Amino acid sequence: ILIKPLYLILMKNQLGNVKQCRTLIKHGRVHVNEDIISDIDFQVNEDDVIKVDGQVIDTNVFVYYMMNKPKGYICANHDKKYPCVIDLIDRKDCYCVGRLDKDTTGFLLLTNDASLSKALLLPDYHVEKTYLVTVLKPLKEQLIDLFKEGIVIDQKIRCQSARLEIIDDFHCYVTIHEGRYHQVKKMFLSCDNQVTALKRMSFAGILLDEQLKEGQFRQLTKREFQKMK
Ligand code: URA
Repeated sequence: ILIKPLYLILMKNQLGNVKQCRTLIKHGRVHVNEDIISDIDFQVNEDDVIKVDGQVIDTNVFVYYMMNKPKGYICANHDKKYPCVIDLIDRKDCYCVGRLDKDTTGFLLLTNDASLSKALLLPDYHVEKTYLVTVLKPLKEQLIDLFKEGIVIDQKIRCQSARLEIIDDFHCYVTIHEGRYHQVKKMFLSCDNQVTALKRMSFAGILLDEQLKEGQFRQLTKREFQKMK
């Protein structure tokens, strides 16, 4: 994830579109750590020094934010009816990695790094997500095994094995590796229960920073970022 195509870094520095940036490389105008690069698909990492026509350019062009998503906001960049999480951060080039329902709170990752968001959303990547779930009816112990075996939702789709940890009668943690639409809510509906509140506590191995109030966000630390790889 830390390794990026050189042309992409040039693009993020407003040096042109894909073709124009690849042409800059082809024409020998780009140095990486003092070497002229001619491979248009050359990959760089965050510590490399990149120069275009002798001028050092910014390699720190990607941002990764952890937000504690508030209720009532939708995971989109524009909506006619509801406020969007992007309105809360002053970066219109960012977007959400995955989605949480309007009434769900908790960990939401926002970035301008399309390759990260694509990688994390690939079904094979199995990003782990843990939710704190509040339910309407008392939780039964046998749910633990049912979740482990795979709950059937929408009468036909068997979800992958999930981990359920009961906290008390009405609260539990659920860890899943998929990202189906309304998945957690549907899993409980299939078990004759109902989710009344949902908060994502972790995503891709990173814990939600409990200091963040709903609606607040901060950049991921380097350590957190590296956990995601
Ligand atoms: N599962 C749901 O049902 N809703 C969410 O927002 C996330 C997971």
